[in-house]
Amino acid sequence: MKNVNRLVNDIFSEMVEWRRYFHMYPELSFEEVETPKYIAEFHRQLGHEVQEGVGGRGVVAKLKGAKRGKTVALRADFDALPIQEENDVEYKSKVDGVMHACGHDGHTATLLGVAKVLNTMKEELEGTVVFIHQHAEEMQPGGAIAMIEDGCLEGVDVIFGTHLWATEPLGKVMYKEGALTAAADRFEVKIKGKGGHGAQPHLTSDSVVIASQLVMNIQQLVSRNVDPLDSAVVSIGSFEAKNAFNVIADQALLKGTVRTFKSEVQDMIMNKLEKMIKGACLAGDATYEFNYVKGYPPTINHPVETELIARLAKETEGVTDVVEYHAQMGGEDFAYYLQHVPGTFFFTGAMKSNVDQVYPHHHPKFDFDERAMLIAAKLLISATLTYLKESVDSVSVTS
Ligand code: MN
Repeated sequence: MKNVNRLVNDIFSEMVEWRRYFHMYPELSFEEVETPKYIAEFHRQLGHEVQEGVGGRGVVAKLKGAKRGKTVALRADFDALPIQEENDVEYKSKVDGVMHACGHDGHTATLLGVAKVLNTMKEELEGTVVFIHQHAEEMQPGGAIAMIEDGCLEGVDVIFGTHLWATEPLGKVMYKEGALTAAADRFEVKIKGKGGHGAQPHLTSDSVVIASQLVMNIQQLVSRNVDPLDSAVVSIGSFEAKNAFNVIADQALLKGTVRTFKSEVQDMIMNKLEKMIKGACLAGDATYEFNYVKGYPPTINHPVETELIARLAKETEGVTDVVEYHAQMGGEDFAYYLQHVPGTFFFTGAMKSNVDQVYPHHHPKFDFDERAMLIAAKLLISATLTYLKESVDSVSVTS
């Protein structure tokens, strides 16, 4: 790996340049044009087989090693967010109201660096590497589903991906077997009662009272229905029923979110929620509209590949701390790849050393320590080479 370290270190200044270029010209989910063009051209110059417009706006590039072997996919997302950047840096976003506030610029620059280094090793490479550059991670339904439908995983044996994590120190790598991110769903309930005079409630069906009961009943949904060893969250974030002080509202609108790690729990909550709505409306002589939108499924990391990352992270230059992480309630559409092929998604610490510059992801002042790209690139390269090498060895042992 000594050689790999040198090769990655040698192109660090280029990786920083690419990252800053992407940072200055961010593009929103499903509106990416220049970013995928840049990525495709980059891979073409390396002589990789390139497919553009995969699943809409994704780019898939293939590096075929001189020797036969398995196929490893590496994924990086490249979309930005509708946020006005407030950082005062020379590489500040030049696009009003759009910003790389989640570090996807860093993911992309890292993967380009990985591609450039692996390309120099193609004579010894025992298999194929597929670079999946994904559009639209930040917006449902996300780019992953469409890219998979368009064949980006064809022939792929395993997939790895990482997210730079700016609220954890540089040098820390976080892995987790099983559920890493939650399913993040949203729902709306419209209670349709009958409005009227506040002094004559008996002539109305009070949507505010019915909706209030419902909000309270929902508090028992998790505590009385979900196995205590599983976890789930149901939260009502919005309750609207506007009217004058002495008028009973005919309609109330509730909006909320459901977070779960298992599809059985997710389906149970969805069904139970509707039963509770139905029950409350039946008792209160009201009708309802219920709209439940499933978000990204949970990201479920596979055990063998997760163990591989944990093992290799400990040997990676620049890594000082390798920890088993806690599950995150946020969503990530890497989940879909893992429904098709084994693999793992891990976090790479990328916190700025100056504490005054540390802001969470999706914040107008978000930024990360660019040296995290070195660690991410080295670990992705070693995972790729080790996986290919170990699968060749295991084939020769069994045959
Ligand atoms: Mn992100």
